[in-house]
Amino acid sequence: MSKIVGIDLGTTNSLVATVDSGIPFVIADDEGRRLTPSVVHWPASGDLPLVGHAANRVRAIKPAQTAYSVKRFIGRRGSDISQEEMLVTYPVAGQGGGPVKIKIHEREFTPEEISAEVLKKLKKDAEVALGEAVTRAVITVPAYFNDAQRNATKRAGELAGFTVERIINEPTAAALAYGLDKLREKSKIAVYDLGGGTFDLSILELNEGVFQVLSTNGNTRLGGDDLDKRMVDFLVGKIAAAGGPTPVNAEHGTRNTEQLAILSRVREVAELAKIKLSTETETEIALPFLTPDVSFSYKLARVELERLTRDIIERTRQHCIRALADAKLQSSDLDQIILVGGQTRMPLVRKLVSEWFGCAEFEEERGGIRLGEDHHKRTGPLLNTSQNPDEAVALGAAIQAEILSGGFKNVLLLDVTPLSLGIETFGGLMNVIIPRNSTIPVKAGEMFTTAVDHQQSMLIHVLQGERERAKDNWSLGRFTLEFGSAPRGVPRVGVQFEIDANGILHVLARDTRTGREKIVEMKSAVDVDDTAVTKMVEESVEHAFDDLGARRWIEAKLKADELLAATRKGLADCAGELEAEYETQVQSALGELSLALTTGQTEGGTGDLKRLQLACAELDRVTKPLAELLMDKAMEALLRKRGAIS
Ligand code: AMP
Repeated sequence: MSKIVGIDLGTTNSLVATVDSGIPFVIADDEGRRLTPSVVHWPASGDLPLVGHAANRVRAIKPAQTAYSVKRFIGRRGSDISQEEMLVTYPVAGQGGGPVKIKIHEREFTPEEISAEVLKKLKKDAEVALGEAVTRAVITVPAYFNDAQRNATKRAGELAGFTVERIINEPTAAALAYGLDKLREKSKIAVYDLGGGTFDLSILELNEGVFQVLSTNGNTRLGGDDLDKRMVDFLVGKIAAAGGPTPVNAEHGTRNTEQLAILSRVREVAELAKIKLSTETETEIALPFLTPDVSFSYKLARVELERLTRDIIERTRQHCIRALADAKLQSSDLDQIILVGGQTRMPLVRKLVSEWFGCAEFEEERGGIRLGEDHHKRTGPLLNTSQNPDEAVALGAAIQAEILSGGFKNVLLLDVTPLSLGIETFGGLMNVIIPRNSTIPVKAGEMFTTAVDHQQSMLIHVLQGERERAKDNWSLGRFTLEFGSAPRGVPRVGVQFEIDANGILHVLARDTRTGREKIVEMKSAVDVDDTAVTKMVEESVEHAFDDLGARRWIEAKLKADELLAATRKGLADCAGELEAEYETQVQSALGELSLALTTGQTEGGTGDLKRLQLACAELDRVTKPLAELLMDKAMEALLRKRGAIS
């Protein structure tokens, strides 16, 4: 069987890695380069596309025919893409629920078709290096990718001719590459991953040789590209101030081909300067012949870059705080912070991460290993920078591939669900089946019944989110399961949620009487994106008090409705058998409960909960003799049926 390779399909760069004789390594292309830019260019001639470095080289001169950073668009709906995100140098279109389309030479491509070109190149490079056909792969995705994004990534792999054995989360893969499975039991690690286009912070714990992800938080639209954009804006301003061309038409914010070419050149030098400033304190930015008679140059200092971009890096802090809170940990509980993603080479990133997590000392020069005499001086976690941050994810994917092939037997990686999943139940409440931050793969189920008599079907409305009311969560989809008519409370419908190893949700609903069942894969999670996840979690905290009040009211109301119906039926069944005074007492308690219910009559409104609860308790108390009488009558009827009394 073919070897399984590990692939880091990055926003900016992609890598392919494998394991040989127990040693993971990144496979280089025929020119010895290990990073392949995730860039594809289609020549006007209709020849095959240029991929990687070759495409990157023409990107500046043919910006409109060169696609880059398509990972930002993969698996997302047109309507979800903001105007700002559309500001790339190639034409991006997308409307409504359809996928994003990239139009080059009158041909429309989906982001997965473009990613497939990058994957095809990696496949070819691996085949040349390994001297055999390579048809199986493990591909990594950011932890915050939703179902649709994971599926689209898998499809990209298949379009490239791979059988995708597994989709794994990037930070989870990185922990393997850092060899953290060798740490002592119960060690806790944070993986800080800042790449070109995505940020993830994951907290892992080592338990009996198994990595468990305790929590994860991040943003699929935050990364080195944002720093580049900030620098481009800065340089464009400087160029204009120096009398150079402006790459944007002031009135409409539009650009012509020449302006696009200038913008591409500015972006290229901006990124190069940013990378240089990770090792140097000052660099010269040169843009000769922006127009035949204007050249531009600027001396940029590291401190100026830091001043320009600090707020972008600081945006990662809130995700670190949330991930720690979700894992119920403090930074001092962590043993190590590992750095992943090219952008973490920036000294300011390392400095800030070190400060936020209270790392006692920052030890890059020691390869991140805690050494000798000053060990006792440290209190915080160790900032481990011992691995190449660009390669860690691909190496981890290769290690996971080796595990799947039967090598490296003792390690297993587990990921978690970013948001709770459940279904809508009586009264419009969210019934959680798989809570947020559950380790995947995971399977969980619950039994449900009907609320009204003679119901012949049940609507399974699948929800994702952290709010108490169904309407405040995201709807992932709905389907109906039919069954035979029966009195309320009799049908038993088992609902099972299963999130597979790729993070894809399958929902099964089965009528236990007939065995009739439906299994639905939830593809419509396409709406979910990371900012929305953040918003959802924030809102759940913000509205926690109201939400809890609403849940209490709905639950009390359901109970009251049930009690009212049962009491009315009981009164009818015992008509003529009750003393008038007692009947009046029950009627009065009934009246008060009905009145208490009207206090919440506005749509979705909650009423006077205390009054409702008191009225419920009072009716419950008052109807005790009635319930006993009904029990006696039922018993009598049963005995009569059995012929014991006549
Ligand atoms: P990745 O997605 O991990 O390939 O990271 C790519 C991002 O890292 C891009 O935004 C690069 O500009 C950035 N990057 C790569 N090397 C460096 C460096 N030495 N210093 C700062 N940023 C870097």
